[in-house]
Amino acid sequence: MHAAESGKGCRIAVVGGGISGLSAAHHARDLGADVHLFEASHRPGGWIRTTRQEQWTLEWGPHSLLPSSSSLIQLIDRVGLTSSLRSGEPGARARYIWRRGALRKLPSSPLAIPFSRALSPVGWARLLMEPFIRRGGVEEETVYAFFRRRFGEEAARILADAMVAGSSGGWPQQLEVDSFQPLLRQWEQQHGSVLAGLLRQPAVSGAPFSGPGTLADGMDSLPHAMAADLGDRFHGGSPVEALEPADEGWKVHYRGAYASNTAEVDGIILALPAPACAALLAPVSDRSRAILESIPYASLSLVQIGYDARKWRASAQGFGFLAPRSENLGVLGAIWSSSLFPFRAPPQHGLTTVFLAGNGDPEGDPYSDKILVDRSLDAMRRVHGPGLEVQLALVGRAPAAIPQATRGHRRRIDRLQHELSSLPALALSGSYLDGISLESCVRSGQDAVVGLLDRWKSSPEAS
Ligand SMILES: Cc1cc2nc3c(=O)[nH]c(=O)nc-3n(C[C@H](O)[C@H](O)[C@H](O)COP(=O)(O)OP(=O)(O)OC[C@H]3O[C@@H](n4cnc5c(N)ncnc54)[C@H](O)[C@@H]3O)c2cc1C
Repeated sequence: MHAAESGKGCRIAVVGGGISGLSAAHHARDLGADVHLFEASHRPGGWIRTTRQEQWTLEWGPHSLLPSSSSLIQLIDRVGLTSSLRSGEPGARARYIWRRGALRKLPSSPLAIPFSRALSPVGWARLLMEPFIRRGGVEEETVYAFFRRRFGEEAARILADAMVAGSSGGWPQQLEVDSFQPLLRQWEQQHGSVLAGLLRQPAVSGAPFSGPGTLADGMDSLPHAMAADLGDRFHGGSPVEALEPADEGWKVHYRGAYASNTAEVDGIILALPAPACAALLAPVSDRSRAILESIPYASLSLVQIGYDARKWRASAQGFGFLAPRSENLGVLGAIWSSSLFPFRAPPQHGLTTVFLAGNGDPEGDPYSDKILVDRSLDAMRRVHGPGLEVQLALVGRAPAAIPQATRGHRRRIDRLQHELSSLPALALSGSYLDGISLESCVRSGQDAVVGLLDRWKSSPEAS
């Protein structure tokens, strides 16, 4: 059978309309399946959310994408948004670390290391010894232990902490390196050195933008275009309330605009955060529920600060900075939104998005908006200097937003997949499986479709 028709005759329900579910639904449709997507909210996109206010464009989730995100870029093309892709400003690749009371530029290549004060000279010297460190490590090694073993104590304390906190709100002492960034271990195994592996990476070519990129009308224009492209197969405002195994697949019980409805399908893709997935699977697989509920999530808060750049100018340009927790800045870091993409702020104005750790409580954050804004302004003044006059200060919260792949995560996910194999055709997709990046989520949606169709094809109903 032609690959484009390998899903012909298969009825699939995708549950969850974030980027993972949208990617799954598009891939299933491209393979000829009869697919419907059920999303609880009326708005597609999940954590991808953009708001517009006068001439400000505010991103409350992902801010940008990388030229290496090939699957994501293909999707953007598929829904006709390639012409909306915008490259970051030429200096946008510069990233900084807040250390010892100043912004320290991270080296963009090994040759720039002698000029960077992100680590002490001794710290850099130890890091550069990495190619001479023998392969090693333990199973389920944490990010911190991996960094300390290969790059030294200071790199683990400063770089691993900033990287993990800034990208996931988590702790390098808790996350497992194979789940957080599998390439690190692969490079160690294949090349005997992470730095050697990094240097051997082919340069990305052919992307329709350079540096970090974004969509001109906001990141959420992608999920909106994807949902529109699905037409009446995208069911917004339709939370799935229960799943019921049936003779030939599943019954999906969902709430529609006016009443509860049931869809009968051959297979289901659950593209949900782990807790929502656990709730739906509890009646059919208690062991799956327990594994899913054991996955911790971190919460983040975001503060958008807008200012008149004629009266106050941030002291550095580029992508933004990360603040290791040991430096006690009170925030995890910031993205200099308008330095990256000037069209996000009115002319002659600046926009910075400050990230703060949440308290992990999905029900609410103990900090009031005022406390979060004050902390962010305090950090900005310490980093860039006094005189900041605020024109816009808005708070957003992302409770229980980022799954934490703690030690043993990969093993738990394998067990989960094993548990699900005894149920009628069902596949998982989402940020807790293979990585939180948009690119990983897109791929997890596509992989889920392929896995589901394989199971469906080997079932008696398919023949
Ligand atoms: C503040 C923040 C900044 C980020 N920055 C970046 C970045 O710069 N780069 C990057 O690559 N990644 C970034 N990420 C990570 C990335 O955005 C997420 O990992 C990704 O968007 C998750 O997508 P998802 O579809 O798996 O899940 P979600 O976005 O959580 O979508 C799940 C969907 O399921 C729906 N749902 C829940 N229960 C039900 C139900 N019972 N029935 C039907 N629908 C249901 C929800 O309403 C939701 O829409 C960031 C995340 C956050 C929170």
